[in-house]
Amino acid sequence: MKGKDGDAAARLSAATRLAGLRQPVLDRATTWPYSEGELGDFAYQRYDHPLAAEAERVLGELEGGRALLFSCGMAAIAGVVLAFCKSGDAVAVPLGAYVSTSHLISEELERFGLSLIEFDQTGPPPKEAALVWLEPCSNPMLSFPDLDDSIARAHEQGARVAVDATMLTPVLLRPLEHAADYSVHSATKLIGGHHDLVLGVASCAREDDAERLFQTRRLFGLIGSPDSAWLLMRSLKTLPLRVERSSATALELARRLREHPAVESVNYPGLGDEVAARYLRAFGPLLSFVVHGGAAAAQTLERSCKLIENSTSFGGARSTIESRSRWEGERVPPGLLRLSAGLEDAADIWRDLERALASL
Ligand code: PLP
Repeated sequence: MKGKDGDAAARLSAATRLAGLRQPVLDRATTWPYSEGELGDFAYQRYDHPLAAEAERVLGELEGGRALLFSCGMAAIAGVVLAFCKSGDAVAVPLGAYVSTSHLISEELERFGLSLIEFDQTGPPPKEAALVWLEPCSNPMLSFPDLDDSIARAHEQGARVAVDATMLTPVLLRPLEHAADYSVHSATKLIGGHHDLVLGVASCAREDDAERLFQTRRLFGLIGSPDSAWLLMRSLKTLPLRVERSSATALELARRLREHPAVESVNYPGLGDEVAARYLRAFGPLLSFVVHGGAAAAQTLERSCKLIENSTSFGGARSTIESRSRWEGERVPPGLLRLSAGLEDAADIWRDLERALASL
């Protein structure tokens, strides 16, 4: 039963609870002594460690499930696929979503009997899939699935559903509340938020799935390190504030870019995606846009930005921009740029972008 303090704490908003987190002591031990020959809470760092357990407690509360910490977003994705798929299974991954999720299946796990189906996540999931992957505000095409409908259909078809909500964090979207089986994040991005840590998180709706995933993490050695988890705890205190600020800036930039004559199209669910608006009150820091003039124009633009850093990754305090065709080739329009709004003043970011656009 909750005590008086517990009841009061439960009434506090997530932002208030996160702001009040105590920074844990950084315990780097790789092994802990048995007590009278008996295992204690921790035995060996590859299995579990105090910093991971504390980060998982906080993240699990935010997600409404049991969270597990991984060494990076790809480790979390690989962990879920390895834990819950078997030889002969098809994994359905959205088109226009994070390219390495598809490549993990097609370039690595096909050898072990899995197959990849790519599909348009704004429509129904493929019937043949054993695991359906969804990526709301996908990277880099920013498509958004009708989560309730897609998850219900996938379940009717006997599939499990994982939602990569990296772009939104549990501040804006809690996939488990929409009946997803697994929620996945690259915490390297917005959750970490400072471009100084690499981590992943996967949360399970069911306890037995969490136990299964824990075993997979242990045997493949996929757990995140204490140092990174310590930095993550620091980041969680400001997460709601950073999410609100960078989402508001991204919306402002998307609106301005849409009006600019050098810009052919802008992808951002905040610009009138009615399905996304049913699920979200803000749309995250990431947007993409296509400039007239193809790959050459996109490359000129990225190099002309000064305040906005020309680098990969996103979700940090500093805004970043890059031409995506360097990584994705023909999967994306040649003139596509991906822009992550940081914590700078929106007016300063726009001035930098406007000046760079003028160079085209
Ligand atoms: N999921 C999404 C949506 C991503 O954009 C990324 C990386 O860009 C990942 C997962 C993989 O994350 P990490 O680089 O932490 O392994």
